[in-house]
Order: sequence, then C-alpha cells, then structure tokens
Amino acid sequence: MEKYKGTIQVCMETRKLDVNLSMELNVQKDSHNLTFYLPTETKIHNVFSELPLEYTLTEDKDWCPLVSGDKKLCVTLPKGRVDEKLVLNVDYTSWITNIPEGGMNQFDKDIMEIGVYVPWFPLQAHFPETVFDMTIKNTDLTYVGSYKIKNTQDVQLKSPNASVGYPLIASKDFNNKIHKLKVFNSEISVYYTHKVQSHIVDELVSSIGKIIKLYSNLFGETSFESLHIYLSPRQNTDAGGGYCRPGLIVLPCGENTSTSIKYSVNEDLYMYKYLAHELGHLWWSSANVDSWENWLNESFAEFSCLLAIRDLKGDAEFDRIISEYKNESVGLGPIKGCDTHNEDYFSIWYMKGPYILSQLEAYMGQTQFLDLLQNLSRMKVKTTKGVLELLKGDLVKFLNDMLES
Ligand SMILES: [Zn+2]
Repeated sequence: MEKYKGTIQVCMETRKLDVNLSMELNVQKDSHNLTFYLPTETKIHNVFSELPLEYTLTEDKDWCPLVSGDKKLCVTLPKGRVDEKLVLNVDYTSWITNIPEGGMNQFDKDIMEIGVYVPWFPLQAHFPETVFDMTIKNTDLTYVGSYKIKNTQDVQLKSPNASVGYPLIASKDFNNKIHKLKVFNSEISVYYTHKVQSHIVDELVSSIGKIIKLYSNLFGETSFESLHIYLSPRQNTDAGGGYCRPGLIVLPCGENTSTSIKYSVNEDLYMYKYLAHELGHLWWSSANVDSWENWLNESFAEFSCLLAIRDLKGDAEFDRIISEYKNESVGLGPIKGCDTHNEDYFSIWYMKGPYILSQLEAYMGQTQFLDLLQNLSRMKVKTTKGVLELLKGDLVKFLNDMLES
C-alpha cells in the first residue's frame, strides 16, 4: 500500500489545482525509473526526495485510452539504490481542462468530480492501492468523501482504506442538499445538487436503509462507520455507471439518464438497481480489480442487487431478470480469465456471473448458498480458488465447470 499526503488549493473558476504532494512509494530495488501521468496542462515546480534525482515532463497521448492525463513525468533515481520504500515529493500546478465528453468526470464552476480517469494526483500505470490524506486549503466548497473540517477554511480529506484513487468531489451547491440518515451505527450522508430531481433523491434515500438492512441480514453486519453517497448529475446517458471507493459511493443521476444501458432491465427499478449494486460492494470488494478475479466483486455485487429486487418485487421479477441475463450470456466466453481486455467483460461480469450464481443457488439450495455468501463476505475471500475451497463434493466441479464454460 502506498501513502499520499499533501495539500491542495482549488480554483473552480479556472479549474486550477495547486498541489504539494508527498508520496510514500513501494519501488523495486533494481528499478530506478519511475513514471507518472498528470493532467495535460501541468506545470511541475519541484520534484525531490532524499536521493538525488532527475526528471523530465513529456507528452504520451496513447498510454491508456481510459485516462485523460497524458503528461508523462519520468523520474530517474540513482543506480544501486537498495531501499524499497521511497518518499517522493512533487509540487505542481494542473489545469483540469481536458475532460473527455461522455465520461464519468466533470469540472465546471459549480461542481468538481475528478479521480482516476481524470487524475488530480500523479497516477502510476499499475494503479497501486493508496491511502490519501489531503488538506484542502482555504476552501469554501463542501467536499464529498471521508473528511473532517480542520478549521473554518481547511478541509481534511482522508480515505479510510486504500483504493486505486480517491475522487475529489466538491461543490458550493451541496449546501442544504445533503440528507443524513443513520442505519445501525453507520452515518450515511447523501449529497446532490440542484441538477438532480428531488423525486429521485427521495426515492433513493428511502431505499438505502432497507437495502443495507437486507444485506446485513443476508451477508453479515456492516463494518463501516460512515458512508457518503454522491448523486452525480451526468448529462450523458452512456457515461458509465456508479462506482464505489472506501467510504464513498457515486451514482449517476443526470436528467437524461435513461434505461439505455441494457443491463438495467426495468425502467422503474433503474436507480434502485444502481444503488443496490453499489451498496453491494460494501460487502463485495476484496478481489483485485485489475484481474479476472474482479468477477468476485462485480458479479457478487450485481447478484446482491438482484436479491434486493427479489426482496422488493418478488420471485417472478427475479426469475425474469435472471432469464434475461441467461439469454445475454449465450455465446460469451468464460469468466475464468476474463478481464477488461476482453471486449465482452461487461456482459460476462454483470450478467453471466450473476446468472451462474443463481444456478449455484438453485443447485445448493437457498440456505446453504446463503451460508456460503456469509462465509465469503466475513472472510473477505479474494480469489476464486478461495471460493472453491469453501465448497464440498460435486459443488466444486459444478462451479468450476460453469466458470470455464
Ligand atoms: Zn460494481
């Protein structure tokens, strides 16, 4: 795990970030070249560590099509370095002007939502798990995420656990547009802006407690103290779904958000389904997101969401969606080995995976299947091998065959 700590000053009008960042990195002993990606418009003021180093800033437009940061910072360390930990300090100014249309991120004078795809921090190509502890200086904005107000002007944003990148989400418009609720011992705050319709907010807020209570019943108690939910007013309907980071859930809630994403299945349940899927990740997020094992996060979160629909609408609706997922799965490759390089990864993780889980449930019986889910969640099982080890007899072959088919 890496640790990034520092200060940021944000100017919403010019979309300017002034950042002083101290990064505690894990660096291979024999490597002395480090590469980071920053926003296209970036000015580096200083790069330094205890070791003498050199750096260059160039452009690399093709390194990753998903990420808009294409300024490449190369740092060269002296040869013969032995320590695996390195504290690297980078001071820079970035102007976040290059936000891809139809993406998940936005930055205008009212709202900022940037993260891994529009990075505010020097991003490494292997997306390391990082904890963030940032002080936002002199701000009059309200920030979403796990944070505390240090004094009247500074805000401290602290990710409770490591993640691949902590989003920076803030607006002046959240004032009076925050719902707070308590579920068990967890404080939940829902943030939205005037761009999100109030009936959507009401509907979501009334579903949060019910879904969390259902999942706690099914999979075991929650372990989080506080959770922020941000309803993002995205205009583009195909701009990707929600996402979940430690202590934070983001749901797309644009006015034009429609049912165009085919997996949403039922118009009435559109937002409920997004919410239930992302809340599912509070139980299912232990597997490595950058490998085929991510099906343990995505298929299980999606299956949880179908259980929430079964609870709300009954068996017939659940069976109907499962049969749709079954139809969508015809001709798709196996889950085993499927990662984001597979062009069908979405359908494989979000439809075929839940379909397979429904088959496993039918084969095992509901009670035994729920016991399995509880054990997996409690043990935070990270690999498919770990899942198979919890199965007995012919169930091992049954699941293995389905994952390979
Ligand atoms: Zn998900």
